[in-house]
Amino acid sequence: WTSDTVAVVTGANRGIGFEIARQLAFHGLTVILTSRVTGVGEEAAKVFREGGLSVVFHQLDIVDPSSIEAFSKWIKETYGGIDILVNNAGVNFNAGSDNSVEFAEKVIATNYYGTKKMIKAMIPLMRPSDSGSRIVNVSSRLGRLNGRRNRIGNIDLRKKLEDVESLSEELIDQTMNTFLEQVKDGSWKDGGWPQVFTDYSLSKLAVNAYTRLMWRILSEQPEGHKIYMTCCCPGWVKTAMTGWAGHTSPEEGADTAVWLALLPDPSVSGKFFAERREINF
Ligand code: NDP
Repeated sequence: WTSDTVAVVTGANRGIGFEIARQLAFHGLTVILTSRVTGVGEEAAKVFREGGLSVVFHQLDIVDPSSIEAFSKWIKETYGGIDILVNNAGVNFNAGSDNSVEFAEKVIATNYYGTKKMIKAMIPLMRPSDSGSRIVNVSSRLGRLNGRRNRIGNIDLRKKLEDVESLSEELIDQTMNTFLEQVKDGSWKDGGWPQVFTDYSLSKLAVNAYTRLMWRILSEQPEGHKIYMTCCCPGWVKTAMTGWAGHTSPEEGADTAVWLALLPDPSVSGKFFAERREINF
């Protein structure tokens, strides 16, 4: 890796994203540290630069189309494109089995639709390379389709979401819409959705499903323009999101995402990882 390799990290002003940015920069890449709030993002990038790392800040709010557009334009003008995208930005508001319309909408808009918007905006900017460019989505085991606990009760829906051939963007979006409608009319508790962190778990399930769908779509990219997309769970990490109650440090939480971003192995594409090992969706 050289400083010509450009890696973008979303939500990199703190937590796991901050560590992903540090570890990627440590490998000698140029890292674009993005944050929705300018002041804190600039400060974070400055800390890295003072440590001799090649880290540049740019504002980016993944739920704001005009922010994504301005970011994309800046990337194109400044670097011509990027080689690595780590979709790390995410939110979680519930501390149990509660759901409010406002929080459910925000969680799904950020974790799933925001991530999807970034993927769509960055794919045309991924630079051609013999070893392929990479997109890593920081997801969660809570979004597993077939986890023993906390899964969707509707077996038909689970099967449809599992089968990569029948998977479609419409199916994933429709699943999120059905849940949000039920949160609005108060019927979601009988909807057979995951029982804990329901909106968050579903938002990550959608990210995982979208990763598999994109693997199918991106596998048609021509040689020299390959894009490999993976998703991963960082573990239960001591960050603001968990109220620092996790049992893993942000450094360890960042490790698998960084490993996947740098791994020269196309066979990982479309798969889900934790602690550098493949896990089931
Ligand atoms: P933090 O809450 O510490 O950090 C989340 C980051 O995402 C912050 O930088 C935050 O910015 C940013 N963010 C939120 N919304 C947006 C947005 N609309 N646009 C751009 N950035 C945004 O959480 P973690 O570091 O723990 O989480 C990082 C990722 O890891 C998330 O995707 C999370 O779901 C996932 N994860 C975390 C686990 C854990 O145990 N911590 C477990 C499993 C998955 P701001 O500072 O402005 O709020």
